Amino acid sequence: MPEATLRPLHLPQPSTLADEAAEMQRINQLLDGGLLTLRFPPELESRFMRDSAEQRLRHFLISGLLALLVYNGFLLVDYLMARDVFWLAVSIRLFFFTPLSLLGLWVGWRHARRLPPSVWPLLTEVMVLGSGLIAAASLAFILSSSHSPMSHHYHVGFVVVILYGNIVQRLRFGLALLFSMVVLAIHVGGVLLLPNMPERLGWPIIMMVVATVVCSLYANHAMERDERRRFLLTLRERGLVRELGHTHERLQALSRVDGLTGLYNRRHFQEHLQGVWARAGFDGSQMAILMLDVDHFKKFNDRYGHPAGDACLREVAEVLQHHLKRPADFVARYGGEEFIAVLPQSDPAYAAGVAERVRQAVEALQRRHEGSSTARVLTVSLGVACGRASATQAPDQLIALADRALYQAKRDGRNRVALASGA
Ligand code: GH3
Ligand code: MG
Ligand code: MG
Repeated sequence: MPEATLRPLHLPQPSTLADEAAEMQRINQLLDGGLLTLRFPPELESRFMRDSAEQRLRHFLISGLLALLVYNGFLLVDYLMARDVFWLAVSIRLFFFTPLSLLGLWVGWRHARRLPPSVWPLLTEVMVLGSGLIAAASLAFILSSSHSPMSHHYHVGFVVVILYGNIVQRLRFGLALLFSMVVLAIHVGGVLLLPNMPERLGWPIIMMVVATVVCSLYANHAMERDERRRFLLTLRERGLVRELGHTHERLQALSRVDGLTGLYNRRHFQEHLQGVWARAGFDGSQMAILMLDVDHFKKFNDRYGHPAGDACLREVAEVLQHHLKRPADFVARYGGEEFIAVLPQSDPAYAAGVAERVRQAVEALQRRHEGSSTARVLTVSLGVACGRASATQAPDQLIALADRALYQAKRDGRNRVALASGA
């Protein structure tokens, strides 16, 4: 019965709460673990990729355009340091790499989001990887075609390519590692193959590029770790807000419910009645208030003890719930051994009929009550009042009428139903 009473409050299912608690625990464990491996469990990993995909795509496009400008700006360096292949550099940079990159950026911008969510985050990474590698290969090709002695120094340009992939575009660490190794191989191969490379220049240049790889990979790892930590902290924050919401709902429910019987309490009844009263005012229908009081209950407690008295109150509550089954009927514990119910759309005959059935059902429980001067078993008295909601009347007046009828039933000998006069 308490469940039935609580249903309108939409409390979250225990299984949902358990799932959420397990997720919070997993998040905390990952945060405590330090995220060094840069890997979440599969489900969380794909959620991370999905959640960050849009932002990464935008970052890729904006940084891609910026990097393209920088890439073409190096034409000035080509002119100064490898003038013998300047026109080759112009054709590679302006007529090959630039249109290819613009096409890639356009395809990414217009079409990436149409792919399944599990695919397009990966596509962004692959496009960054591809553009970086083509830029490195084009640089190597320009330098290997040049006979200018200055082209030896120009090999430092690979530093920019590595910074582009690892720091500017922030490739995922695994791909950044792959990218760095391939670019490094192209660079080292290029340096070693360059004719007339002064020995005392080759290795220092390689050392500089290697140091750039190491430092940028370290920074790349730290940035991805921070990004993952932020993701987990956001999830944890959302979880905490949800938890707070559930706690609030639970507290609200508890503040409306009577702990002993599971029925709503008097406070909530008053709130509910205002709504019923307002609705009845619109359609002009009649409604009824039922008040129930257990007869000689003090003597019952005195004779059988309070725990037995409590069990008795629960039984009476169940009887009431059983006989007030229409969806709009509403029962509450009014206080002590008194209960109250509101029955919308009810005339005196119907309400009195329900009250009589409740009275009979309690009597039929056949709970012994030796101390009662009314009967050998536990009985109840009920007062019923009916009325129409109107501007001149308040719901409290209808309650007062039902209360008066209840005391009339008591005065008339208890174990009976009394209908308020004028109802
Ligand atoms: P009457 O027939 O005139 O209604 O007499 P009564 O004894 O039922 O009425 P009275 O108001 O004198 O006593 C009500 C009793 O209900 C007193 C109180 O101890 C008992 N009671 C109130 N709340 C609870 C409860 O939660 N559990 C138990 N076991 N008893 C309660
Ligand atoms: Mg009483
Ligand atoms: Mg009583």
